[in-house]
Amino acid sequence: MRNMKFGKSGLEISELGFGGIPIIRLDVDKAVEVLRCAYDRGITFYDTANAYRDSEEKIGRAFDGIRGKVIIATKTIMRDGKNALEQLENSLCMMRTDYIDLYQLHQIAQEKDWKAVTAPGGALEAVVKAKKDGKIRLIGVTSHNLSMAIKLVRTGLFSSIQFPFNFIEDAAKDELYTSARKLGMGIIAMKPFAGGMIDNADIAFKFMRQYPDVVPIPGFDSEKAVDEVISLYQHPNVVTKKDRQRMEKYRMELGKQFCRRCEYCQPCPQGVMITPAMGYKIVASRMSPAVSVEFCRLAMESIKHCNECGTCLERCPYELPIQEMLKANYDLYEQHRIELSKL
Ligand code: SF4
Ligand code: SF4
Repeated sequence: MRNMKFGKSGLEISELGFGGIPIIRLDVDKAVEVLRCAYDRGITFYDTANAYRDSEEKIGRAFDGIRGKVIIATKTIMRDGKNALEQLENSLCMMRTDYIDLYQLHQIAQEKDWKAVTAPGGALEAVVKAKKDGKIRLIGVTSHNLSMAIKLVRTGLFSSIQFPFNFIEDAAKDELYTSARKLGMGIIAMKPFAGGMIDNADIAFKFMRQYPDVVPIPGFDSEKAVDEVISLYQHPNVVTKKDRQRMEKYRMELGKQFCRRCEYCQPCPQGVMITPAMGYKIVASRMSPAVSVEFCRLAMESIKHCNECGTCLERCPYELPIQEMLKANYDLYEQHRIELSKL
């Protein structure tokens, strides 16, 4: 595993990072095993968040005793200084450390988020002070909104930007990355598998490796998954015509608007199983109608309970028209059901 410079920050990190969401679903011992396996294979960069339930605690346990050998990034979703500092102290405690290498303002998506964090007494002021106090080495920011991410980068206030990047969602490669590079920022790519929509690690990382100054942070939930991705880094990167055609096939299949399964929209007050129901079209394109109807029945039937309250729309960082997409998926599910009933 190659090491790379993290922008002009002075930090050196492994060219592949570790995203801290999937370890949430593992028990503590298993999570520690997976984290230590990644470390043994050369991964030194670990990204988590206060919002990722017990992910920080598991990371803290895995790297207790070798803290200085790993670079840890975490985040606060809080917009005011008091709560952001409370989350920072909690992160330090959970991760058994007295400093965070990279502390990120999490998911600054809209103007109101930016106004809140930069207001007097806001989160930014608090983390700048925490950096002066030595609790944070670098301050970064994350966003899912391209125009906001570009604005955040151009403020020159941050050492890193984290944004979704994969061969389906590659808009960041232009203005965002160009601006970040000019300012010597570290660039972190979340969702190299497009939230699970790309199920081919080979082409996913062939694409990512074309950007050697961008660190992808796939989530891992097993040693096997770690080994699979690390093995792709063992040889020079060659993207063939066939690879490009395979990438194009995914792009055509998913279109511009698709659910990344981040689950920020949940829970739905009416119990609609939004994430699996949003995936019906893609499931149906990869399986037979009979299998998809059976496999997704519960989620699809839950759509009937939607009362169009709009709560999920406000929460979706990709600003997806969730109700319309659920309706379109439900129509397709119904069509499949009717076709099956005629057989
Ligand atoms: S709009 Fe429908 S799916 Fe979305 S939160 Fe409200 S009830 Fe749930
Ligand atoms: S609908 Fe939006 S918020 Fe919900 S899982 Fe999909 S991408 Fe995430």
